[in-house]
Parts: sequence; C-alpha cells; structure tokens
Amino acid sequence: MTDKKSLQTALIHSDYIAPDGFAAFPTAIHHASTVLFKDVAAMRSRNWQDKTAYTYGLHGTPTTFTLEARLAEIEDARHCLLAPSGLAAIAMVDFALLKSGDDMLIPDNVYNPNRELGNWLARDFGISVRFYDPMIGAGIGDLIQSNTKLIWTEAPGSVSMEVPDIPAICRIAHDKGAFVAIDNTWSAGLAFRAFDHGVDIVMQALTKYQSGGSDVLMGAVLTRDDALKKHIETAHMRLGFGVSVDDAYLVLRGLPTMKLRFEAHDAGARRIAAWLKARPEIDKVLHPAFADCPGHENWARDFSGAGGLFSVIFDEGYTEAQTDRFVDSLKIFKIGFSWGGANSLCVPYRIQTMRKSWVGTGQMIRFNVGLEDPADLIADIEQALAAL
Ligand SMILES: *Cc1c(COP(=O)(O)O)cnc(C)c1O
Repeated sequence: MTDKKSLQTALIHSDYIAPDGFAAFPTAIHHASTVLFKDVAAMRSRNWQDKTAYTYGLHGTPTTFTLEARLAEIEDARHCLLAPSGLAAIAMVDFALLKSGDDMLIPDNVYNPNRELGNWLARDFGISVRFYDPMIGAGIGDLIQSNTKLIWTEAPGSVSMEVPDIPAICRIAHDKGAFVAIDNTWSAGLAFRAFDHGVDIVMQALTKYQSGGSDVLMGAVLTRDDALKKHIETAHMRLGFGVSVDDAYLVLRGLPTMKLRFEAHDAGARRIAAWLKARPEIDKVLHPAFADCPGHENWARDFSGAGGLFSVIFDEGYTEAQTDRFVDSLKIFKIGFSWGGANSLCVPYRIQTMRKSWVGTGQMIRFNVGLEDPADLIADIEQALAAL
C-alpha cells in the first residue's frame, strides 16, 4: 500500500497535524462522539468512570472535564457531573439515590418541576414522596423515617424566598441516616457555601448565573463524597446525560465574570426592592436580605450575598387583572422564566397553588433584576404602577 490516497480518502484522512505550543485563555472546544484509542490494549483497559482518560464523547472530553473541574473548584466540591439542564441535574440526583420503597422529602416551596418529578416518582416508581414546610428547621427530624433516603432543600425557595435553616436540617438528617441535596442555583454557589454547611449534594442550574447569557441550558451535580459520586455517575451514565461541548464552552465563558455580575445583580436588586418596599401598592417585599423575609436570620447567618431575584406581594386590594396589567405595562422588564442573564424579567405567580400553607391573598410577582441601570428599572416600575 502506498501513501498516496485517493481524493475521497484524502478528504477524510489528512496527514496534517497542527504544531504544539498554542496557548490562549479560552478552553478549547473538543468535539467528539468517537474517542480514538491508540491500540486494542488501550481500548480494553479503559474504564468510562476513570476521569484521567477518555472513552467516548458521552463520558467527557477535555472541554467538559474542564468545566466540571472548574465548577468543583468554585463550589469547593471533589466531584462534578454535568447534565443537559438544571432539571436533568435534579433527576440525576433522584435516580442516583432512590429506589422503589425509599422515601424522599421535598420542601413545599420547591422549584415546581422538582415537585412534579417527585410526584411522578411517587405515582409510577414506587417511591414515597412527602412535602415539608421549608421553615421547619430541626423539626424535620419528626418527618424522617427509616426509609427516608433523600431530603431536598432549596435556599431560598426561588419564588417564595423563604430561607431554610440548612445546617439544622443537615444535622438531623445525618443523625438519622438521610442525605441532603440542595438546589443552590439562587446563590450560584457564591453566596452560600453549601458543603461547609453540611450538605451532601449540590445541584446547580448553570442556565442561570454561570452562563449569564440567557442562551444555554445546563445543570451540574456536585459532591465531596466518593461513594455518592459513584451513584451519581451511574445515573449519569445510565440516563445518557451528555452535554454539547459548544454549550459547555458558553458556560466556561461566563465563569470569569460570574462573581462581578452576581454582585451587580445583587446591588441592583436591593436598591429596587428597597424602593418597592416604600410604595403603598406593595404589601411585602420578599428579599432574604430584608429583616421581614421569612428565614432572614438564616440568610444573615449563612449567606454572603443575594443576587438578582426577589418577589413582592401586592396589597390585597389589587386584583390579578390589575397586577397583570402592571406586568404588561413594564417596558424594560420582559415577561419570561429563568434569571441570571443581563436582561431584567418579571413573572406573576399564583403562589397559593404552589405553596400549600401560604397565608394571604395578595398577588405575587417575582422580579429578576438584570444588569441594566437600576434607575431606569425603577422608572420602568414606577410608570407601570401607574397602570394598576
Ligand atoms: C432554572 C432552575 C432550575 C432548572 O434549570 P433548567 O436548566 O432551566 O432546567 C432548577 N432550579 C432552580 C431554582 C431554577 O431556577
């Protein structure tokens, strides 16, 4: 066989190899489904769980391994696995830990798709799922049964903004042999150092602050525990949770500015929340940094910041039609789910349908304060309040 290839083969096989020594700040994007082995022995000895080498695109490339390692550094975890969305990351935790006959506790104010996944697991997969008052604190001990395997937490609940006592929940859970997972998306892992407060598993929706671009869906599950990592890894593999390396790149691109963005969101949100608090139309501002927010004392003890998300309750005199008109009248704030991007958003919630023991009937609206000038955002809210 000569080295001379036909044109068709040459289109597929090239002899060119780019020179070594290229250096730049961005992480390289390594596209691959197939990963090549140098010989059969290398192929036979390779184990998909070993993250010091490569087996198949689904199990990782240098791009996804780099993102996992960097997220683990940020959250001070030992292990990280990516998922195609934040919700997929929640599912990965559930499938990693639960089997038929097990019991799971979920806070009543949880991110709603987490609740719906729990309801599905309860209906079709033989898992017992119960919802608890997020402000229960150490009282969670009374709910933990011998088959309670997993306790979800979310700090704060991303609509009702109640901040639970995570260290108290973790202490009792560990005494009774249950694992605690947290949806730590609100704090981006920056303002709440979950593992230092006793949590076993952290879940992040990278869709939010990590990406910062409103353009990518991704999630992550992190842990310090080697045994838990094995369970999470198995769920990741069995469910086939691959992520696009282009998407991984978008998240990597967001990380260097994440803390500065988070602090800017935080400053803007506090200023706007304080302005709203003084308005006669508003009955309550639910912002964890404000003393009257449920669980504020937990936030003050355990958190170092707050980001851009908070909710308000309108005075009970305003009907849903009126507050809908307020939302429709906003110009800079757009209507849409999610947060963590540069654009401000606003969503009305029927909180009474989401949080069983919610008291009060005032209309709730959640604000995600973006990176626009807070003065312009306040002016936007002020003109929309006039439309009430
Ligand atoms: C957005 C979000 C998720 C889910 O993330 P997706 O990537 O949209 O699936 C989970 N939990 C919280 C608190 C969120 O805000």
